[in-house]
Amino acid sequence: MLIGQQVTIVGAGIGGLGCALALAQRGAKVRVLEQADELGEVGAGLQISPNGVAVLDALGLGKQLRAAGVSMTDIRLLDCTHGAPVLRMNLAKYSADRAYLALHRADLLKILEQGARDAGVAIETGMAVTGVDGNGAGIRLDVAGRAGQSAPLVIGADGLHSVLRAHLNPSGAPFFTGQVAWRALVAGPQGGMPDSCVRLYMGPGKHLVTYPLRGGALTNIVAVQERDEWAEESWSAKGNPAVLQTVFRDFCPEVRDLLARVKEVSLWGLFRHKVAPNWTGPGCALIGDAAHPTLPFLAQGANLALEDAWVLADCLASMEQGAALKEYQLRRKGRATKVIAAANANARNYHLRNPALRIGAHMILRAASNLAPRRVLRQFDWIYGHDVTHS
Ligand SMILES: Cc1cc2nc3c(=O)[nH]c(=O)nc-3n(C[C@H](O)[C@H](O)[C@H](O)COP(=O)(O)OP(=O)(O)OC[C@H]3O[C@@H](n4cnc5c(N)ncnc54)[C@H](O)[C@@H]3O)c2cc1C
Repeated sequence: MLIGQQVTIVGAGIGGLGCALALAQRGAKVRVLEQADELGEVGAGLQISPNGVAVLDALGLGKQLRAAGVSMTDIRLLDCTHGAPVLRMNLAKYSADRAYLALHRADLLKILEQGARDAGVAIETGMAVTGVDGNGAGIRLDVAGRAGQSAPLVIGADGLHSVLRAHLNPSGAPFFTGQVAWRALVAGPQGGMPDSCVRLYMGPGKHLVTYPLRGGALTNIVAVQERDEWAEESWSAKGNPAVLQTVFRDFCPEVRDLLARVKEVSLWGLFRHKVAPNWTGPGCALIGDAAHPTLPFLAQGANLALEDAWVLADCLASMEQGAALKEYQLRRKGRATKVIAAANANARNYHLRNPALRIGAHMILRAASNLAPRRVLRQFDWIYGHDVTHS
């Protein structure tokens, strides 16, 4: 169905580039319009779990992906005060097949961009889409400072502030979730020795995640704190390492030592929408954050965007466009909604403020981790074991 079909994708993020490649591999003629003048993003890490790796493998990018990523052996939940283990999720069962990887976002974008260009995708930078008009007969896009563009099929992969989302869902502005995230990279491993695990330190009203990148040459830090409001004009700003160090001064020495090495940090207000009621309309569809931004507390936003990208391309390749768009929303909305609800629940579970409640919850998790470690991991199978390329 897609051979020779013209498709325009708005946004060259992980979802947009993944979808461009999946469509081009099925014969479509794909253009990607990206507002930024250059591709690539400020340095930060990403966890790509086995469900996302399944899509990247199916796109033929597995080799480059594994070369750029660090394969995680386990995820450790730790108490913030002494760094005492609370729960360990051993990821060994995924490592033979799919792997659970930590990557620099810029590295993943580069791999996707190269794959898309090799498959014939045209990526045009400096193209900020400002308006959308049209219906089944074709979609017209307004582009800042340029002539309008038209396309028979447009995919909105334009993230949280999606123009396409507003076209399909006229009401609903992004709301502040009451959480901010600092993101920083420091040179070298955490502690003295390089290892391959995700560490998540849980404290009252805040948590901090670390993992290695680029073979341990860098350590990625995401530090989240609850706040009443976001006062900055933009949704991200330059942060102050001294403020970060002060906010987390009650965390254990290994965290304080790591934060003492932070020289530059960015601060993000975590905003989101509710899951969009309409993901598709005549001649257009939404994928990734444009349809369903999530809190990053399960590290699933980019993974879901990759799943969407694959499923949309799969539907469009096998059905007439109207039916394909309906089928796409049907196959994706329930799963995205469920993952986002689980990420929201983690916001509460990680940040327990009541000391008695926190001690009790950690005791239960510790016992589960010691007595039934396999069962603990099985609870995440519905997320990590999901393979959209085989469903
Ligand atoms: C602190 C933090 C940590 C995270 N960690 C993880 C993690 O470990 N694992 C994970 O899976 N997810 C993680 N996420 C979530 C993940 O970053 C996002 O869910 C993911 O990037 C969404 O991809 P996307 O392609 O839908 O949108 P985006 O990555 O937002 O890409 C959208 C693209 O569209 C472009 N664009 C926007 N508007 C326009 C326009 N009008 N015209 C043209 N171009 C436009 C943008 O410039 C951008 O290139 C994290 C998020 C945060 C905030």
